[in-house]
Amino acid sequence: MGKALIIGAGGVASVVAHKCCQNSNVFEEICIASRTYAKCEALKAKLDGGKTRVSIAQVDANNVPELIALIEKVKPDIVINVALPYQDLTIMDACLATKTDYVDTANYEPEDTAKFEYKWQWAYRDRFKEAGITALLGSGFDPGVTGVFSAYAQKHYFDEIHSIDILDANAGDHGYPFATNFNPEINIREVTAKGSYFENGTFIETEPMSIKRVYDFPQIGPKDIYLLHHEEMESLALNIKGIKKIRFWMTFGQSYLTHLKVLENVGMTSIEPIEFEGKQIVPLQFLKAVLPDPASLGPRTKGKTNIGCIFQGVKDGKARTYYVYNVCDHQECYREVGSQAISYTTGVPAMIGAAMVMTGKWKGPGVFNIEEFDPDPFMDALNQFGLPWHESFAPALIN
Ligand code: NDP
Repeated sequence: MGKALIIGAGGVASVVAHKCCQNSNVFEEICIASRTYAKCEALKAKLDGGKTRVSIAQVDANNVPELIALIEKVKPDIVINVALPYQDLTIMDACLATKTDYVDTANYEPEDTAKFEYKWQWAYRDRFKEAGITALLGSGFDPGVTGVFSAYAQKHYFDEIHSIDILDANAGDHGYPFATNFNPEINIREVTAKGSYFENGTFIETEPMSIKRVYDFPQIGPKDIYLLHHEEMESLALNIKGIKKIRFWMTFGQSYLTHLKVLENVGMTSIEPIEFEGKQIVPLQFLKAVLPDPASLGPRTKGKTNIGCIFQGVKDGKARTYYVYNVCDHQECYREVGSQAISYTTGVPAMIGAAMVMTGKWKGPGVFNIEEFDPDPFMDALNQFGLPWHESFAPALIN
């Protein structure tokens, strides 16, 4: 049916590429382009031999003219941005210039301020509309599937949703005292930032990791969960009618938190450049260089993830509660595509989101968050492509 240009060749990109190759009816051809050509070559070597044709290229995704030249050469139907959030706007600019559809998994964040929000990308709405192209924002798991779950709950089970608790549990053990499951820089920026939740029309800020609960996750068991700020709350607060409260919770083990505290206390998580041996370096970027590469965690990580949403609201005048979640096994993911479950749970929805746009099931023009589209074909595709979901109408609640 068509061709996708995948930008990035890291943990998530690898899963996207594998999954596109499993869906060769839609993805006849993919081009993987990233900063480090050797990573593209290594990925291509794992993919060759299937029905989907695979090509590779080198690109600096911070450079709009370079991106435009690449898109004009490859002529993709869609660009799947699984580089870093810093590149969202340059890639969107290149898509605009070449009238190419766009999908990503994380919202834009300026490199010098650890603040992620949608305003920068929402500012492209009119230009994408005028160009007649579609941008699908946040098609990973969270954001991504959590928004699809919300749209599905809204469509099938509720007249009004009053509260959403998004629960992200990773019970995987990689055997290292400290490592992050996706890009360390992005991960640490996210978890050291202030927390927040949405209540009655406003966001209430909390100190980092200051709100903790315990939740007994299906197939995983009880885990400590901490309230974080997370980007999908911003769009869900606008797109789910009648919503009064949204909270995002993530599990963290004690070892991770203790290491993080020490790293913070000694200044290693700072994004302020410092001078070191006559050179400017950013401490967090240096830390990233010495931490294990998330892509290398695959063979070592054992255990499961459970990510889902608990909705409370009303249907036909009666109170209703609904929990929908996916459980993913790190080792099974590794056996299938050579990656751990965090990359897997992000890469599968990125491929599905791109397929939705390419097949015309989801079509703009404009810039859209995932919950703005019909969730049903995406929910079916989750079952088909390795992220089956489960439902409960009487889950334990979080106080
Ligand atoms: P990685 O660090 O493993 O991979 C990022 C890739 O992008 C690398 O190949 C890197 O190249 C490439 N890259 C970085 N800068 C540039 C540039 N200027 N030009 C070209 N390529 C570049 O990250 P992940 O795969 O773990 O994460 C990818 C994305 O997925 C991130 O945006 C992350 O926030 C998002 N994510 C979303 C989740 C969700 O559920 N929504 C969950 C997890 C991640 P190089 O190899 O040279 O460093």
